[in-house]
Amino acid sequence: VSNWEHVEQAPPDPIIGVTDAWRADPDPRKLNLGVGAYRTEEGKPYVLRAVREAETQMLADPASNHEYLPISGNADFCRLSRTLALGAGSAALQEGRVATVQALSGTGALRVGAEFLAQHLPASNPRVVYLPSPTWGNHKTIFAKAGFQVREYRYFDKASRGLDFGGMTADLSSAPPGAVLLLHACAHNPTGVDPSPEQWASLLQTTHDRQLLPFFDSAYQGFASGDLDADAASLRLFAASGMELVLAQSFAKNMGLYGERAGALSVVCRSKAVATRVESQLKLVIRPMYSNPPMHGAAIAARVMGDPRLNAMWKEELKGMADRIKAMRSALYRELTARNAPGDWSFVLKQIGMFSFTGMTRPQCELLVKKWHIHLTLDGRISMAGLSAATAPYLAEAIVDVVT
Ligand code: PMP
Repeated sequence: VSNWEHVEQAPPDPIIGVTDAWRADPDPRKLNLGVGAYRTEEGKPYVLRAVREAETQMLADPASNHEYLPISGNADFCRLSRTLALGAGSAALQEGRVATVQALSGTGALRVGAEFLAQHLPASNPRVVYLPSPTWGNHKTIFAKAGFQVREYRYFDKASRGLDFGGMTADLSSAPPGAVLLLHACAHNPTGVDPSPEQWASLLQTTHDRQLLPFFDSAYQGFASGDLDADAASLRLFAASGMELVLAQSFAKNMGLYGERAGALSVVCRSKAVATRVESQLKLVIRPMYSNPPMHGAAIAARVMGDPRLNAMWKEELKGMADRIKAMRSALYRELTARNAPGDWSFVLKQIGMFSFTGMTRPQCELLVKKWHIHLTLDGRISMAGLSAATAPYLAEAIVDVVT
């Protein structure tokens, strides 16, 4: 008898399960709107030209090898990543008070960050993290596994399909001092709803007044608006205030490096001396988990960020991806309006980034899957990247059918 006879079948991952169901669906009209990855107009994965070229250069380099990276990863990648996020003019960077380590994409950065905080926040701070409601599903598990008590703050307003700013502010205003506040830097997943610049300024004040520790999750820099600097505005606003903060960066979306697991974790500290000690402790978190990170993706990203020509090419392609997603929002809105979809669907245009949170109910989503072969997460989130000019009318027809 097996030692694991008693082990129960775990439920499939709610997001990754969507793609499995789509794959198994034999209907030719099937659509995958669950996927959190960019697709071309033809529904194909997209490798950026800048990335291809960086890879070609790397392969041709006779000095390349497969040695280990240091525990903290590729140093150029770390430096370029934090500069990309904080901006070259950042005082924290100029003062050398940012500790950065390479991470296994955004997920790994969040996990190492959470472990570091659990171990090294002052003993008097509560091990409490505030997450937006709703948020990317993995946030809860990552912080819970690291020993945090997970609490939610109001974020999405069902009625307006926009931000519940009043609720958010009220919830954060009653958070205990020293609690960690997780913020999506831009293109909030799953809602596509971001605070306005004025609201960010007010959130900074609340964060400061309540002495919360901001932890920015930046998984979509450049992917939301098409502009790397615009998408970093919230983070830079907080950093410019001089407060300490934590930042998880992913290059999955903005460089299309999904499976390469290229990411970075930065801790912005009060002083260079503190940052040096923090970095030494981050390494102690990493060493027993996976010793050191993989090279390939970080080397590509470092080349694309560091080479002026590849960098310019990247920015252009990033804009192209963001523009296609925006065009899909317009197309879907147009098709819905043309079919007299009940209610106000203008939120489709206002929401930002890869996802739109439609407010469709679970039974409506189930009907989309069963009757229309449109696969999505049952919370009503649709990936705009999975849509094309050719399929937008079909989606609109299906939505009107299930919501009417
Ligand atoms: N945070 C958010 C909000 C995300 O949407 C994602 C990707 N779905 C991630 C983090 C992490 O992704 P990855 O580990 O692939 O970088």
